Amino acid sequence: MKIFCVGKNYVAHVEEMKSQVPQSPVIFMKPETAQLSSGKTFYLPDFSNNIHYEAELVIKINKGGKSIRKKDAAGFIHGVTLGIDFTARDIQQECKAKGYPWELAKSFDYSAAIGEFVYMSLDEIMQSRFVSKKNGIVVQKGDPSLMIFDIPSIISFISHRFTIKKGDLIFTGTPKGVGPVQSGDILELYLNDKKLLITDIK
Ligand code: MG
Repeated sequence: MKIFCVGKNYVAHVEEMKSQVPQSPVIFMKPETAQLSSGKTFYLPDFSNNIHYEAELVIKINKGGKSIRKKDAAGFIHGVTLGIDFTARDIQQECKAKGYPWELAKSFDYSAAIGEFVYMSLDEIMQSRFVSKKNGIVVQKGDPSLMIFDIPSIISFISHRFTIKKGDLIFTGTPKGVGPVQSGDILELYLNDKKLLITDIK
């Protein structure tokens, strides 16, 4: 099973990161060992002093495919949930400055919190809204229709380069409002007011 992630996929988040809107999707991957199920504790790793949450819509792939056309992409969606792309922001800044890959900042153990999956059509996903709360306060609001690269484009782009398989996951990028977590924080993610993910930070 592979976990694909899209970076810089909402304009407002690109702006808050003082970055530039990409011309083609920014893709990175996390290994299977990055998974953290909803309800489990996220333990702050000792190699970073600045772990950020990034709440994202996550797509699960239902069958294998390669070079999928955009118009066929909806048929490869098995379900949807919300996830947190935990990011060691201090390490990512260092990687960016040196031109190094992002894995050390993005792909460490338990860096991909994954909620409970629900089943929605592509149209329903595009019309959905999500929010993330830190300690009960809304910190991020997500509107999938504002993605720079929409879900069919992402599935098509990824599958032209990597064969996708049943069970693969795609984190589709975070909206604005990312920020740090500290021990004692609780993160909760809601899709259309339904809570799909909770994790506490220690
Ligand atoms: Mg992200």
